Amino acid sequence: MDKNSSIWYNGKITNWDDGQTHVMSHVIHYGSGVFEGIKCYETDNGRAIFRLDDHIQRLIQSGSLYGMDIPYGNNELNQACIDIVKLSETGDSYIRPIAFYGYDTLGVNPKNCPVNVAIATFYWGAYLGDGALDKGVRTTISPWKKFSIHSMPAIAKGSGHYLNSMLAVTDAKKRGFDEAILMNEDDFISEGSGQNIFIVKDGTVYTNDEKSSILLGITRDSLIKICSNINIDVIIKNISMDDLLKADEVFFSGTASEVTPVCSVDEHTIGNGKPGEITLKLQKIYMDIVRGKNDTYSHWLTII
Ligand code: PMP
Repeated sequence: MDKNSSIWYNGKITNWDDGQTHVMSHVIHYGSGVFEGIKCYETDNGRAIFRLDDHIQRLIQSGSLYGMDIPYGNNELNQACIDIVKLSETGDSYIRPIAFYGYDTLGVNPKNCPVNVAIATFYWGAYLGDGALDKGVRTTISPWKKFSIHSMPAIAKGSGHYLNSMLAVTDAKKRGFDEAILMNEDDFISEGSGQNIFIVKDGTVYTNDEKSSILLGITRDSLIKICSNINIDVIIKNISMDDLLKADEVFFSGTASEVTPVCSVDEHTIGNGKPGEITLKLQKIYMDIVRGKNDTYSHWLTII
């Protein structure tokens, strides 16, 4: 991680190295945190944070799904993200707000633990590796299933949820793939370890929803809206393994992964093994939007 000079911690800007918590904090033992991943891009009008308010709303919603009252409101958290970006010299940057149960009890019930909030920003290069956006990635179906919506609220971005993702991605990497695709308990496709999934068949775009145990991605939502504005039909449905393997195109979406083509799933090549036409079209529109080159979507940008 590229360290920065400052971090926002419990309402104050402090030195990066002072963003500490005790090892006996509740979150360290039980993963009891909720967080966000937000991106800030350089544009001709200065740096711009993409869909900041939507991310902060999801953070607060993630907290409430776990009964965690985050002691700062939307406006304060939005402003804190802006402040920490302003203090950073980094051009393109990733913003990581996290709210977590701190130090008090080690009982699983966090009853008296304080809710701490930190916001850091730092440079994070291509999430799925150099060349992923242009050439696509090789994926594998994970032997680990996505956790059930009856076990944890998948629509919350909960820290502990990522143990499931970690198992899937480390297994995929060990076997030489770039990323894992997780099935859900009903044997439908769920999502990547940190990305939503879309398929394209005969010119129509398909993706799944919360019933498939996914995080409802903000990139996913952006792409659905973009498709509707350019008259590409989007059908939201459960996606089977058959749908995936017979797709003309497959792509991942996510704040860090942006719009990444998927060129294979295990030994199956998707389409001709190259990024598809609709994938590249959506990728271009998305990248233009985040770089401030598409006025139709300027309301998604918070210019710093
Ligand atoms: N699913 C998971 C499990 C993720 O971690 C992410 C990344 N936040 C996504 C989907 C995509 O969400 P978003 O587009 O909001 O980044």
